[in-house]
Amino acid sequence: MEDGRVDQAARIVVIGAGQAGFSACVKLRALGHTGSITLIGDESHPPYQRPPLSKGLLLGETTEERLYFRPLSFYAEKGIELRLSSTVQAIERSARKVRLADGSEVAYDRLLLATGARPRVLPAEIGGELGGVFHVRNLVDINSMANRFREGQRVLIIGGGYIGLEAAAVSSKLGLQVTLVEASDRILQRVASPETSQFFRELHASHNVTVLEETGIRRLMGEDGHVRAAELSDGSVRPVDFVIVGIGVHPNAELARDAGIEVDNGIVVDADCRTSDPDVFAAGDCASFPWKAGRIRLESVGNAIDQGEAAAKAMLGESAGYLAKPWFWSDQFDVKLQIAGLSTGYDRVATRHGAGNAVSYWYYRGDELLAVDAMNDSRVYMAAKRLIEAGKSPPPHVIADTTVDLKSLL
Ligand code: FAD
Ligand code: NAP
Repeated sequence: MEDGRVDQAARIVVIGAGQAGFSACVKLRALGHTGSITLIGDESHPPYQRPPLSKGLLLGETTEERLYFRPLSFYAEKGIELRLSSTVQAIERSARKVRLADGSEVAYDRLLLATGARPRVLPAEIGGELGGVFHVRNLVDINSMANRFREGQRVLIIGGGYIGLEAAAVSSKLGLQVTLVEASDRILQRVASPETSQFFRELHASHNVTVLEETGIRRLMGEDGHVRAAELSDGSVRPVDFVIVGIGVHPNAELARDAGIEVDNGIVVDADCRTSDPDVFAAGDCASFPWKAGRIRLESVGNAIDQGEAAAKAMLGESAGYLAKPWFWSDQFDVKLQIAGLSTGYDRVATRHGAGNAVSYWYYRGDELLAVDAMNDSRVYMAAKRLIEAGKSPPPHVIADTTVDLKSLL
């Protein structure tokens, strides 16, 4: 259309029925799009939230159905054609259609890639494909491991990121014997300061989780195809009943790459979520977008929601100008960790103590406040988030002074 807006009857196809794909479809209808919307996902469940997979679902505190964003009837009401258990195998850009594994094709005027990420796996040569070796990404993963979580079982968790630590907390709560190995010199090394790592090291130790840092895996050893023991990088051998691998993810960018769309640690998009093909957009874990002087890929619910919505706007011809406001959370035992901002590049950390075991760590580069980790302190987290989003950087000594009301700094 001449005013830059897309024809309201445009056919929009979204690949990936996860957090970002769902957000985009809902936003498209909210913005008044009347054309067809087809949401194609390779999982058999309607779109659902992943965070409880490594938290409440394993603990039995919630059910599968309660994870669904909306019941199936919602999609029919909104005129969103939801095609589940359907894998897109190729994008034919010149013909503007996608090809599915069952041989069918769907034509598009605008295409959104919301394909997420998949777990990194341990190589088969070191036992990564033995029975009893699990990953945590989707409901099928959880259902396949759920009956292992029995009191006294010995679980080895590989990786001390969020997946590993949350799985360790759940396992310990359910009475398993838990060992966690982290290859780098400290847990949460990729995302947090030594102070936050220390906080969680102590928390896990107090619940009898054995955390071994600077320790990797030489090989997993099996009997009858099932893992029975693990040889660690220090040469020791530990008997295990099962293993959970949480060693990071790969963005699902192959579809884009094979279609000749630019990929560089994820599908490269601009601030309007547009890829190197102007009719193809990307959002969520799979997308690499402009951030400060460079690019970033964020793996979080907050980003998937906001970027999915921004992509919806952009697909309708509006300028989205997506500016990420990173926030994250993690639940481990009785601790709620809330993170505002991104700490990458920090050179010092200020500590603010709260009541009881509440504490927050404030990350600075020079005088600039970059990020805050708040443990059991939602009010501090909310104030910190607002400060960061407003571009305000109170000096570290002011933050450390608990007589200062943070709200007065806003
Ligand atoms: P996804 O939710 O992964 O959705 C992508 C979908 O696309 C998947 O269903 C995938 O199967 C499908 N797909 C891929 N390729 C194709 C294809 N070719 N054809 C059809 N379908 C395809 N973030 C937080 O902020 N806080 C948390 O506490 C938190 N906890 C988490 C706990 C777990 C166990 C996991 C796994 C993640 C957690 N995350 C958390 C991260 C968060 O869930 C992700 O960042 C978010 O789901 C990303 O959304 P997405 O839509 O980009 O990708
Ligand atoms: P992650 O945060 O990248 O952490 C993986 C950890 O495993 C890293 O510390 C990594 O160390 C370590 N590691 C890598 N290879 C190893 C090996 N061979 N042996 C031992 N340790 C090894 O990824 P994740 O925890 O697997 O999480 C996967 C995804 O789910 C991420 O997108 C994450 O954000 C998301 N998630 C988020 C939450 C949350 O926000 N609360 C909760 C769960 C999951 P190096 O850094 O040195 O490689």
